[in-house]
Amino acid sequence: MKAGIFFKKLDPILTPDQKMGFRDYFPQKVYKTERNIAVIVAGTQLCMLLVSACKAGGPFADSESARYFLMYAMLFLSTAGILPIHAWLVKKKKYREYLWIRRLYVVILYAWVIGITLLDKRNGMGIVIYCYLVPTLAAVMLQPPLESILIFGVSWSVLTGMLAFTALPNFTADLINSSFATILALFISIRSYQSMAVAYRDRETIARQYREIEKANVMLNKMACTDQLTGLYNRRYLIENVRGLFEAYHKSQMHAVILMLDIDYFKQYNDTYGHLNGDECLKQMAAVIKAYSQENGMIAVRYGGEEFLAIKFSEVHGDRDFAGELQERIAKASLPRADVKTGRVTVSIGVWKGSLQELDSFEEALKYADRALYDAKNAGRDCICYYRRSSMQVNS
Ligand code: GH3
Ligand code: MG
Ligand code: MG
Repeated sequence: MKAGIFFKKLDPILTPDQKMGFRDYFPQKVYKTERNIAVIVAGTQLCMLLVSACKAGGPFADSESARYFLMYAMLFLSTAGILPIHAWLVKKKKYREYLWIRRLYVVILYAWVIGITLLDKRNGMGIVIYCYLVPTLAAVMLQPPLESILIFGVSWSVLTGMLAFTALPNFTADLINSSFATILALFISIRSYQSMAVAYRDRETIARQYREIEKANVMLNKMACTDQLTGLYNRRYLIENVRGLFEAYHKSQMHAVILMLDIDYFKQYNDTYGHLNGDECLKQMAAVIKAYSQENGMIAVRYGGEEFLAIKFSEVHGDRDFAGELQERIAKASLPRADVKTGRVTVSIGVWKGSLQELDSFEEALKYADRALYDAKNAGRDCICYYRRSSMQVNS
């Protein structure tokens, strides 16, 4: 029970998702450093091999020299062999396999340290190499806490066992030194690994919070620009976004068609059917306008109470009669009302159409569309008026 709590404490608190993420993050984080270290290891071993080969009598002059030579060769070959495999696995993002090969390399490294330490010891040089290599390896080849305990525990036990077995001198001093170096290595390894995992956890937490804030911002922005009743864009969107588009397109000589729609006799509709039915009528009318606008790349806005805008920017001055098409669509939708002669809800439409270069501002276009709408109302409603500088053209 107590051991369980101890091991749990060694494990940085990561959620299952973070654990999965860290499994991929860890190899990417350590790969470059470890590749450089492996290059240094291979380089030093190669130098040692060359030095041994150049010694008088060659590398196999005596059995000790041969043992050293074989140790250098073993580490050089395994490092040089593992380096390209590691590079390939990282390139292919095979992180799980990378971690297994890495574990194998760690075992080779510690086995080599023990081997070389025993060789040194036999030659009267003590266990200095173990005392500085083990903490150094712990700092550069990070291991998860449990794996650290395992690798250092086994390394220390094997070394101590071998020292005891071979009955070489100064066993007590070596035992104290190797124990101290092992504890130090264990401490370094666990602390470094944990701080990397905690840094990852904090980074992930910040990234998640940032994503949530971004999402909330997008939603708030959408809400701020959307009319609650109809789901169309609202006046705020018109001012903040469409005006910006107008200014950008104004410079590049684009064209636009602006339809301003107003439901006819809507006050009377409310008076006849009640405000709630009036709301429903607005929603249905907005749905017709929205569908048509979406099909035709137009921006649909609820401009005011029962007034709507449908705006189309285009590169060319087209001949399409968007107002006529939309009015036909509204007629087809045939939203019923018995209080008017037509027996259905109708709209009057004012249109401004032309090159943006003709205008000084976006507001000017709205003013002209509004003027055309006013004329459509005066012309008897349920009709379209096109703004012309000199005269107004009416289509019923
Ligand atoms: P016209 O044919 O000249 O456009 O006459 P109208 O009655 O449609 O125009 P007027 O401007 O006199 O009235 C507009 C009405 O729209 C008045 C107002 O009560 C109603 N209205 C505005 N916003 C809403 C809304 O959100 N819901 C409902 N139900 N009615 C609204
Ligand atoms: Mg109105
Ligand atoms: Mg009206």
